[in-house]
Amino acid sequence: ASVLGPPGQYWMYPALVGNFLLLGRNQALLLTASALVFLTVQGKAYDSRLQLVMFLVSASVTSMIAFVFASRTETQRQQLEALATLDPLTGTGNRRAMVRELQLAVESFKREGSVFGLAMLDLDHFKQVNDKHGHERGDGVLVDFAELIRKNTRKVDRCFRFGGEEFVLLMPGTDAEGLRVIDSHLREYIANKLRCCGEQVTVSIGAAALRKDEDWQSWLARADAALYCAKHEGRNCTVVDA
Ligand code: GH3
Ligand code: MG
Ligand code: MG
Repeated sequence: ASVLGPPGQYWMYPALVGNFLLLGRNQALLLTASALVFLTVQGKAYDSRLQLVMFLVSASVTSMIAFVFASRTETQRQQLEALATLDPLTGTGNRRAMVRELQLAVESFKREGSVFGLAMLDLDHFKQVNDKHGHERGDGVLVDFAELIRKNTRKVDRCFRFGGEEFVLLMPGTDAEGLRVIDSHLREYIANKLRCCGEQVTVSIGAAALRKDEDWQSWLARADAALYCAKHEGRNCTVVDA
């Protein structure tokens, strides 16, 4: 616009819309405002003051529409991402998110040697809870359970719903020794706090620390085997794979 004069103004509209579609919102706002201020101050793009005012108003309206469109698209993208990675009932990560995080943990262990602990948590006799109090109350227990895990773990720990009443907890920086602490920290806490209509609900935990040259599937399988042992030992206990 500054080179061609008034005919060049027409090319400003696709450029402004392109700003908002191709750049981040803040970058696009900054670039758009800079372009309009530059053209106004330099003054070569206009024949008259009226033309300047008309251009500024129409360019601002075009930018506003593009801004709203870009904002909506971004919100929808975030909503879709949440739908694709979160469990709708408990708000924890879903299985898809779990697989991605476990893969990242394995890669990070290979690259930087960072240790990771994994715990599989399964509510005890949950079928009875449903049978006795109904499925809806059972759902409430799952929500409370996820909330208790969130409250009683660190910010870096990630919780995922593996399926049904089984959850997986990924703990960065936690080795086999650290995993033993979750027994007193988490299992006892849940036994003390989790209730359904006043009745205690407990959890069994199987845990395993990531080993060298191990893939996420066998890591998870070791935690699952430890959970199986915990169930056999009478439930409401933690077994760490040595
Ligand atoms: P165990 O101590 O051996 O784990 O016994 P359990 O009864 O918890 O184990 P089982 O795997 O036999 O039963 C799991 C139950 O979890 C069965 C199903 O009714 C219940 N369940 C699975 N998903 C949901 C859910 O989303 N909501 C509710 N309310 N119940 C669920
Ligand atoms: Mg189960
Ligand atoms: Mg169970």
